[in-house]
Amino acid sequence: MNDVFMKTYNRLPVTFAKGNGAWLTDINNKKYLDFTSGIAVNCLGHGYPELVDAISTQASRINHVCNYYTADTSSIFAEKLIAACSASGMKRVFLANSGAEANEGACKIARKYSLVKYGKGRHTIVSLLGSFHGRTITTLSATGQEHFHKDFGPYTEGFVFIPPGDIEALERALDKKTVAALLIEPIQGESGIKPQTQEYMEMAAKLCEERDILLIMDEIQTGVGRTGYFLASEAYGLKPDIVTLAKGLGGGVPVGAVMAGERTEDVLQPGDHGSTFGGNLLAASAGIVVLDTITKKGFMEDISRKGSKIKEIISSWKDSGIKEIRGIGLMLGVDISKEAWPILEEALKKEPGLLLLTAGKQTLRLLPPYIISDGELEQGLDIMKSLL
Ligand code: PLP
Repeated sequence: MNDVFMKTYNRLPVTFAKGNGAWLTDINNKKYLDFTSGIAVNCLGHGYPELVDAISTQASRINHVCNYYTADTSSIFAEKLIAACSASGMKRVFLANSGAEANEGACKIARKYSLVKYGKGRHTIVSLLGSFHGRTITTLSATGQEHFHKDFGPYTEGFVFIPPGDIEALERALDKKTVAALLIEPIQGESGIKPQTQEYMEMAAKLCEERDILLIMDEIQTGVGRTGYFLASEAYGLKPDIVTLAKGLGGGVPVGAVMAGERTEDVLQPGDHGSTFGGNLLAASAGIVVLDTITKKGFMEDISRKGSKIKEIISSWKDSGIKEIRGIGLMLGVDISKEAWPILEEALKKEPGLLLLTAGKQTLRLLPPYIISDGELEQGLDIMKSLL
């Protein structure tokens, strides 16, 4: 059956048919506990009743209008999104379809901001080694991992990389004559759940402010409550100039967003940017449910509590080869003493099965849905322990 797909993914041997809450069921009716949320996407789990209702109702009303017009659902979604990001100073949003597309939009804003204000030659975007920003040519160019830069050149010019955590390198790289923006994941997801330090982030924000360099936070994985904050930027007390979102924002329906703060809200003008599906109404209807649910009082606190509980349980395991647990909320990386990929294969064979992710060769990545119960967390962790 899978022979029709291009060979882009190393897929595990399971084919899913349906899901409910934190559980997925395969075509043979076997159940699996989901510690992946489809890589931080299905944040409200599977078949979340309000989400199902919202998409179904929207589908019966109207799916899509082109960007010549506005529509009620996407306007409401955008307003709620700005409100959810208000602590981080966001003022306007451009709706896109994916993380890579959101990051492309962010790079365009940064380049135009700098060009209009300072003229040509100040277009460099500084990014961090170990980062991941997407799979288009430009977002690959922004991605600070050599193995992504092998086969698809020439890449977009004007990206440079510095090691995370190195404040001297940061000070040197942020040259106000040539640099338009600094692009950072507050917690590097794909390369191992590696949080930036508070000191580094504060210094980054300070230097960007002093030198009129835009601070872009790629919150595609960390955003929408994943860390127990709506944006991880809040955990650092930062107000970036641009924030990009995707993944969890539609609870499983594709949607991305470029959020702009005070310095950048007016950079893009009519004709500068666009996206046929951006602001799609099915996605917006799903996004409204995600935002309404996770901004309910106590919801994000519960994400933090569950994250701390997972850390506590894993820290108590003796002789299981755990080296380190990193991250906050329900975005955790667990360094282990064996290779991680075979553990994913073994986890599928358990009864019930368990879905896990890797982030690097010897790191398991845990991104359970926010609605997972404490009992389900304990059950999944028991299975994980048995595999170590
Ligand atoms: N940025 C970060 C931090 C991501 O984790 C990802 C996806 O894993 C992306 C960008 C790219 O998002 P998408 O796959 O939706 O294009």
